[in-house]
Amino acid sequence: MPQKTKKTPMMDQYLKIKAQYPDAFLFYRLGDFYEMFFDDAIKGAQILELTLTNRNKNAAEKIPMCGVPHHAAQNYIDTLVDQGYKVAICEQMEDPKLAKGMVKREVIQVVTPGTMTDNGAKEAKDNNYLTAIHQADDHFGFAYVDLSTGELKTAILEGPEILLNELLSLRTKEIVIDDSLSQKILDYLAPLKIMFSKQIETAASAEVSYALQDVTSSLEQAVLKHLLAYLLRTQKRSLGHLQKAVHYEPSDYLKIDHYSKRNLELLQNSRTGKKSGTLLWLLDQTKTAMGGRLLKQWLERPLLSIKKIELRQQQVKLLLDHFFERSELADELTSVYDLERLAGRVALGTVNGRDLLQLKQSLQQVPKIRYLLQQIDDGSFKDLLQQLDPVAEVVDLIEQAIVDDPPISITDGNLIKLGFDQELDGYKDAMKNGKHWLAKLEADERQATGINNLKIGFNRVFGYYIEVSKANLAKLPVKRYQRKQTLTNAERFITPELKEKETLILGAETKAVALEYQLFVNLRDQIKDYIKRLQELAAAVSALDVLQSFAAVSEQQHFVLPKLTKKHQIDLTAGWHPVVQEVMGEQSYIPNDIKMPEKLNIFLITGPNMSGKSTYMRQLAQTVVLAQIGCFVPAKKATLPVFDQIFTRIGAADDLIAGQSTFMVEMKEANEALMHATRNSLILFDEIGRGTATYDGMALAQAIIEYVHNELHAKTLFSTHYHELTSLEQELPELANVHVGAVEKNGKLTFLHRVESGPADKSYGIHVARLAGMPESLLQRADVLLKKLELTAKKTEKIKKSSPQIKEKSSTKIDQQLSLFVPETVTPSSQQQRVVEELSQTELIS
Ligand code: ADP
Repeated sequence: MPQKTKKTPMMDQYLKIKAQYPDAFLFYRLGDFYEMFFDDAIKGAQILELTLTNRNKNAAEKIPMCGVPHHAAQNYIDTLVDQGYKVAICEQMEDPKLAKGMVKREVIQVVTPGTMTDNGAKEAKDNNYLTAIHQADDHFGFAYVDLSTGELKTAILEGPEILLNELLSLRTKEIVIDDSLSQKILDYLAPLKIMFSKQIETAASAEVSYALQDVTSSLEQAVLKHLLAYLLRTQKRSLGHLQKAVHYEPSDYLKIDHYSKRNLELLQNSRTGKKSGTLLWLLDQTKTAMGGRLLKQWLERPLLSIKKIELRQQQVKLLLDHFFERSELADELTSVYDLERLAGRVALGTVNGRDLLQLKQSLQQVPKIRYLLQQIDDGSFKDLLQQLDPVAEVVDLIEQAIVDDPPISITDGNLIKLGFDQELDGYKDAMKNGKHWLAKLEADERQATGINNLKIGFNRVFGYYIEVSKANLAKLPVKRYQRKQTLTNAERFITPELKEKETLILGAETKAVALEYQLFVNLRDQIKDYIKRLQELAAAVSALDVLQSFAAVSEQQHFVLPKLTKKHQIDLTAGWHPVVQEVMGEQSYIPNDIKMPEKLNIFLITGPNMSGKSTYMRQLAQTVVLAQIGCFVPAKKATLPVFDQIFTRIGAADDLIAGQSTFMVEMKEANEALMHATRNSLILFDEIGRGTATYDGMALAQAIIEYVHNELHAKTLFSTHYHELTSLEQELPELANVHVGAVEKNGKLTFLHRVESGPADKSYGIHVARLAGMPESLLQRADVLLKKLELTAKKTEKIKKSSPQIKEKSSTKIDQQLSLFVPETVTPSSQQQRVVEELSQTELIS
């Protein structure tokens, strides 16, 4: 227990600092190490596999302690943060040699999962978003920031579901909250296992107040203030690269909830959670990390405005039509480094000489990129061209100051070019002259003494010396030479003149290194003034990169430019699922049409398992997303409306909110669609209702179809294995049956994967069982049973026709079938009941 320990002044200091950061590992700088004490040490030693020792070994109360060398600290910090912890870095704020009493120490930064900026090359194409929530009833002020790029966005989200969606889409690792959040919301978000960081005070710092300039809503102001306060509290350094907060409306974009995004495999493979096998994977031919990040953002938020989509389409078309310029452009982009993050590092003060060279090199690409774009522009690139500002001032600044091969460190010199600064040149001259002088001294001494292997050397402890091998010692003029150090085979000496030069040379070197650092910092500060321009440029380059990627993919995949229509109509000729085709090869993929004119809203899809029903459904969704991000689409010809939302219920339920049955999740997802879909939405329901008893499920499926048909009129693909549902076509004018064809040849069933009109043949199940090698007698029995069931259905139909009462009570054939087989689920009339009993008995006897 820390309280009981008799405190040394150092422990006293430690505990005071630690008390301010109870939720973080405190890395306490002690000489060349960062030390952890008490519980931090016990836990830290375990996670980082360090040796746990004790600070005051002999005292009654031992203090557990472990440490990491300061030069290797980054790896340990990364490990802790990766595992969801925070690390407060506490530095010595003065030189221990010069300090009077306790060395002053301060926490200079708290590293947290949401504020990590150096994520390494592997995650270069990922944003790292820190989010924040402020609640007012059922509204949420919401904000997110990427500290490495300065991107800052804010919105008001209506209701917890939308909030959950945004959090999942952004893949945030940390949420800043305040006291406004209700326990209910905290509980609702808890299963996400995202770190909550509480920030009660709000920011009053003038430095970042500009970020709030354009934000008018008080809810957004509130959440941003907490977010910025948290950033200031943890970063404790310049945040000059933070962009002004941009308000966004989730309703300005095609809405696809997180589960559907996963189902549709837009950014994440639904099985592996990785990029491979997704639309992103197919589309990503971006050449820069910034472009890679923007592509993801575009995929997360497809557009609704026809005008905006058509502008992107036109840009892609121009790039596609100009192969030469596009390939040149792609080449030039390859040499553009991550301008966005480089600008961030300038602001955060973590930039080094090599980064600045990368910045220079990237900026030098801009005129070439501009030129290429000008060659193909028809006006569509006007805004982009304007944004492509080569920021020549920064190129000049770096060009004048930084040498061509600077070291990683900015504190060891060798950074600044000769001729940049007179004072520095003076020191460098002194160092150089000194070295010449030393060389001359060596030559002179050799001559004077006749010792040919006499040499002048340097080491950190003894400084400059003259070394003479033992065999030659006798030749030395003893007077001038003072012995300094004895080695096995040689002696080292110093002379008064050498001593004097040494002071000059070493003095110059120390001063030069310090001055170089200062000059570098000045340069960094000068570049800070250009951060806004660099960020604008970065935005333009990223957009151009994504557009060229669209063009390249569209060309390789033979995509077509979709025509966007205001009519309620889908017209795809020979379309395909882009990812499935890419995986299986063009030869073996069967293209399909999807033609739904204005008056036809629902396709009821039947067909055996593995025939391609869900591929067909996903194909449409991916095509819609591609169209609305401005890319070309996988089809021979395409006309599409602009959809406002996509709802899906496909495949295994992603049971993220724990404790719900698969069927419950299925119903919730279906309900989400039924409640929120509009006429302009796209609904994909795959085998709805299969999670419960057959007739229960079938009844639900039919009721859902009727609801969509009568109330929503949304374009809907509904696949089912309830063959009975196909008769709905006769009653619902906006519904049509389609099926995935198969042929039988010589007792072999082949899936054609071709979607054709009309319902599927009923007996595929038995065919498939035959293919699977089931005993012939069993299959024949199944055939008999099938015929019998069909007969029963026909009989029922007859009764229905001859009994007006039944017809009145049950509007469709399915209702009647339901009442036939599960009488307890409905309350039929007594006459119906009688017929039912009669019939079911007939059936049983046979
Ligand atoms: P279902 O939903 O009917 O069970 P899937 O859509 O999962 O079937 O498709 C089953 C398999 O058939 C897929 O993995 C795919 O390889 C193949 N497939 C689907 N559609 C096509 C197609 N149009 N052309 C070729 N193969 C296809």
